[in-house]
Amino acid sequence: MALEARKGANLANFGAGFAVLSAVLAVSIAINIALLGFLPGVYRPKQAGYGESHTKTSTNTAVQQPLERAKDETSVSPTSGSLPTSQGSVINLDHGDPTMFESFWRANGEEATIVIPGWQTMSYFSDVSNLCWFLEPEFAKQIRRLHGLVGNAVVEDRHIVVGTGSTQLFQAALYALSPSDALQPIPVISAVPYYSSYPAVTDFLHSGLFRWAGDANAFQGENYIELVCSPNNPDGFMKQAVLKSDTGKTIHDLAYYWPQYTAISSPANHDIMLFTASKSTGHAGTRVGWALVKDQEIAKRMTKYIELNSLGVSKDSQLRAAKILKVISDGYEFPNSIDAKFFDFGRNHMRNRWERLREVVRETGIFSLPEFPSEDCSFTGDRTSSFPAFAWVKCEWENAQDCAAFLKSYNILTRSGKHFGAGLNYARVSMLDRDETFDVFIQRLYSIK
Ligand code: PMP
Repeated sequence: MALEARKGANLANFGAGFAVLSAVLAVSIAINIALLGFLPGVYRPKQAGYGESHTKTSTNTAVQQPLERAKDETSVSPTSGSLPTSQGSVINLDHGDPTMFESFWRANGEEATIVIPGWQTMSYFSDVSNLCWFLEPEFAKQIRRLHGLVGNAVVEDRHIVVGTGSTQLFQAALYALSPSDALQPIPVISAVPYYSSYPAVTDFLHSGLFRWAGDANAFQGENYIELVCSPNNPDGFMKQAVLKSDTGKTIHDLAYYWPQYTAISSPANHDIMLFTASKSTGHAGTRVGWALVKDQEIAKRMTKYIELNSLGVSKDSQLRAAKILKVISDGYEFPNSIDAKFFDFGRNHMRNRWERLREVVRETGIFSLPEFPSEDCSFTGDRTSSFPAFAWVKCEWENAQDCAAFLKSYNILTRSGKHFGAGLNYARVSMLDRDETFDVFIQRLYSIK
């Protein structure tokens, strides 16, 4: 009985305590909600930031919500990665899937083959004496060698951080550059038209550290992270940072700064430079990228991010990528041992494709295309134009004001300008698909009259 009475008293006390606690919690939540109203940016991406300056590049706009952006960015359709099976079938040029380079590697694939016995690459660790302890030394060596050969980036006194594609490195760089003690997330910006993944990847986890804030040209403030993609995805132009401030930070995404796409004018020399096997060698599926980082503390923080996010990067992939880079460099440095020059192959292909595209555009007048200046290329020694990985097309016909929808009605999938902060009258078309797909694409354009 005594025990039951004590239990009853305890329950009564607990009930009273719980009521008080609930009341305190309710008041606290109400205060917090009210305070959030005064901090509009915290945990809430600024909707208006996306494509704020649409009017600069477009006549026709559509603003996207953060979740919609992420969904679109990752949308994979039944035709992704596949060849058109008939003249009329869907041609998917939405993604920048670099399958164009397959034919080079089919012809030269033997050289790049690696065999990994069952006992190899088992440990998490690659080189614990290195700041980036999961970076394979052979991969680091071949990265430095290739940049030295091509002359597209300064590698001396730079730390290399390896990532699962440059998509992971981009997030690592955002983390590394964001002040951890800031009251508000730091704005992340890029000039319109910007790579469609930037807003999607920046905001999909609603980070308290950083937040997408739209067009760099419309941004006002001293603290920011500016993303500079050069040559730019989607429009192919060489870009520089728009903003300058003592406290602002910049990430240079140089995924396409390779001789098959543009003239190499000088070695890029920025604080954080991102590269990827996807666009340099065509090995998107290997999922390996690398960052060249000047500042040791930033390189450490990027390494920490990757440690927390994926506990390193596949060693198997790094060894494969190292071999691929080696074969490319050997092709130029020891031309007798390997009779294949990867960048020459890539450049000739891209030039040919752009000439064919310009020809059909001239004949039909469906779109207009950007024009690129010719520049001296220190790698080839030639004066050359740019042949970007994407065609940034502007539909000119009255009935094609929604350019992607217009092309879709002809079974050609592209990415609408709205994902890049631009108008619906623009669309991005991949120029990197297989020859068979590209041929059907050109024929289909001729048929639109
Ligand atoms: N940056 C740019 C500009 C890109 O176009 C891409 C791929 N479309 C990436 C980064 C991501 O590359 P990765 O495959 O290495 O993640």
